[in-house]
Amino acid sequence: ESLGPEQQGLIIAHYGAQLDIEPISKPGETYRCHLRANLPPLVTGDRIIWRASNKGDMGVVVALEDRESLLSRPDMRGQLKPVAANIDYIVLVIAPVPVPHSNLIDRYLVAAETVGIEPVILLNKTDLLENEADRQVLDDMLISYEHIGYRVLKASTRTEDGLHELKSLLNEHTSVFVGQSGVGKSSLVNTLLPGVDTKVGPLSESTGKGTHTTTAAKLFHFPAGGMLIDSPGIREFGLWHMDPEDVLHGFKEFRPFIGYCKFRDCSHEQEPGCAIRKALLNGDILQERMNSYQNILNSLEKI
Ligand code: GDP
Ligand code: ZN
Repeated sequence: ESLGPEQQGLIIAHYGAQLDIEPISKPGETYRCHLRANLPPLVTGDRIIWRASNKGDMGVVVALEDRESLLSRPDMRGQLKPVAANIDYIVLVIAPVPVPHSNLIDRYLVAAETVGIEPVILLNKTDLLENEADRQVLDDMLISYEHIGYRVLKASTRTEDGLHELKSLLNEHTSVFVGQSGVGKSSLVNTLLPGVDTKVGPLSESTGKGTHTTTAAKLFHFPAGGMLIDSPGIREFGLWHMDPEDVLHGFKEFRPFIGYCKFRDCSHEQEPGCAIRKALLNGDILQERMNSYQNILNSLEKI
C-alpha cells in the first residue's frame, strides 16, 4: 500500500460506500476516501483518522473518533440508522407563516430531547409581524418555551434582522436546521452561506450495479464560523417515527415528576395520585404542553 501517515479528518459528505473527508489541518480541501472494512457505518460530521494515497487516488479512513452526539433515524423496521454526528444544536425554524402549532413544535422538541441534542427555537420572518395581535400571540408562546428552558432567537432573512445573534450562536458549533416546509430553511442556509452551492437534493451515485439515488448529508462551514450539516432527510427530523416511551421524557419540565405517580402504569389522564396532573394543577406544567403530550401520544397510536 502506498499510503501517507495517519491524520485527523472530518467527514463532510457521504455517498454510499465513499466519503468526502476534509483534513483537520487543511480546512476547505476535500479527499475522496473509502472505508476500512472493520469500521461501523460512518456519517457526515464524524471525526475520523485517515491516510491519503500517495498515488493520487482514493484515501482510506482507518478509525472513527468518539462521537459527541449522533442523530439517528429509525428505519421501516424501527431500527436506528445513523444520519449525522457531532451536532451541537438542532435549530427548529418556525415562522408567522406557516402558522406554528405548539403540537408540532413540541414534537420537534421531543425528538431533539430523545437524541440528546440541544434544540434552539428560531422564529424567522419577523418582518411579517406587523400586526400587534399576531406578534403578541407568538411572543407569549416563545416566552413559555424560554421559561421551560429553551433558547429562542428571532430573525428575518428578508430584513437581516437578528442575523448577528444567530451567527454568534452558530459560531464554533455544528448545527442542523429543521422545521416545516415554508418556514425559510433554504433562505436561511443561502443567507448564511452566500455563494455556496448548498443544494442538498438527491445525488446520483454510480456503483458497479448501476446508478443509485441517495440523499447525502453535507457539511458546510459558515464564513463567520461554525458548521452546518444539511440534507433533505435531516430537514424532516422530528417527523420521523418516535417511541411512546420517549414522548414523556421528551417534555423536559415533566421529568422531575416522572416516577412519582401512585400507579406505575399511570397514563396521567384521570388516575388518582398522578404526579404529572398535580404538577399541572400547581402550575409547574402548562396546560398547553399537557395537551400537546396527549395529542402526540394519540397521534402515535394511529400510525
Ligand atoms: P423552506 O421550505 O423552509 O426551505 O423555506 P424557504 O426558504 O423555501 O422559504 C419559503 C418562503 O418564505 C419563500 O417564499 C421565501 O422567500 C420566504 N421567506 C424566507 N425567509 C423570509 C423572511 O425572513 N421574511 C419573509 N417575509 N419571507 C421569507
Ligand atoms: Zn401520572
